[in-house]
Amino acid sequence: MAVCGSRIAARQMAFTGTPRDHAILSATQTFYQSAATASSLARRDFEPDRPIGYGAFGVVWSVTDPRDGKRVALKKMPHVFQNLISCKRVYRELKMLFFFNHDNVLRALDILQPPHLDYFEEIYVVTELLQSDLHKIIVSPQSLSSDHVKVFLYQILRGLKYLHSAGILHRDIKPGNLLVNSNCILKICDFGLARLEEPDTNKHMTQEVITQYYRAPEILVGSKHYGSSVDVWSVGCIFAELLGRRILFQAQSPVTQLNLITDLLGTPSMEDMKYACDGAKAHLLRSPHKPPCLSALYSLSTQATHEAVHLLSRMLVFNPDKRISCTDALTHPYLEEGRLRYHTCMCRCCHNTAAGRQYTSDFEPAAPQRFSSEFEDGLCSVHEVKEALHTFITDRHQGNSVPLCINPQSAAFKSFASSSVASASELPPTPQPWE
Ligand SMILES: [Zn+2]
Repeated sequence: MAVCGSRIAARQMAFTGTPRDHAILSATQTFYQSAATASSLARRDFEPDRPIGYGAFGVVWSVTDPRDGKRVALKKMPHVFQNLISCKRVYRELKMLFFFNHDNVLRALDILQPPHLDYFEEIYVVTELLQSDLHKIIVSPQSLSSDHVKVFLYQILRGLKYLHSAGILHRDIKPGNLLVNSNCILKICDFGLARLEEPDTNKHMTQEVITQYYRAPEILVGSKHYGSSVDVWSVGCIFAELLGRRILFQAQSPVTQLNLITDLLGTPSMEDMKYACDGAKAHLLRSPHKPPCLSALYSLSTQATHEAVHLLSRMLVFNPDKRISCTDALTHPYLEEGRLRYHTCMCRCCHNTAAGRQYTSDFEPAAPQRFSSEFEDGLCSVHEVKEALHTFITDRHQGNSVPLCINPQSAAFKSFASSSVASASELPPTPQPWE
């Protein structure tokens, strides 16, 4: 899957043929043999393909795009056509990845040419490659200054404001889904669980979302409907984790997860419990009354200043209606330095001129339009989604870019193809603790 032959050969392969020629993602083994005989080329050109992560519904590899020699991420979406729910979810994720246009949200760069419809089983998407993620950074010995925390938090909220303004709930915000490169640029990734906001509050939404440690209390107490504030809760947990270098609420079960939350926030008032199901309400009322203990947040770290704790305690609010929004959080004084640092030397929206730095007119842009799910309308069978997805992918290849293919004979491909994660339909359902 790295460059087949040399980088130069790959360039020729990509740009001397007709637009319908394929650029082939080659194999690690062949690639190393080529590298041994091509000593004049820099070693970095021969970085091998390797797995870099496992998302909710896919496996991600670091590979080299043979068309320009750039390292990119290749995500395999397996088991796409097992059932209607899984293939509609994949279709939605792909549509989102190509819809996104924001520096703090991962977007798709390309998608591999699919085989004939009859053999179409898996989908491979090419995205930007970032070397690390916040989880790896938090558990590493690398020191994190308060400037780091501020610039990371600023970018998380900046990306999330864009998603929420497009009507999208991410529903799995956690450190492992926040990619980071060596320049501290952060991008939100993994939209396998993302969906559009549900305006109808009577409609039930799945609770099979969000890794438990970052799961908002309204979901833990069995609320059937929730909104973008579930993502803000997750960001609050991550903010505390950045400060304290440990998971804020780390429980073994949803009930103990809720207990840890009320240990910090205190027993919620009846009004704040309004979204709880009867079983959860009974549990909260049966438990000894707890006073709020937010001052404990100061002990997270010496970086937990008044401003930091003030913003944190606006995110970690039990009642989602009273929790701060991304847009409002971005106006908090704690984030001013993060904004300044980001737009002074990290962003792509501002630039240097002879007269000095030319700043953008909108530091935290919203999406120009909401994401539409109309493409899902009328898709009632796996076959219909499969056809629609196939057309969506092949239509993307009608332009001038050289389509990318995988070399199925390569050893790297065989290893990649056999790497797999359980699809959502195979995951055991989480027992609802209140029933
Ligand atoms: Zn900027």
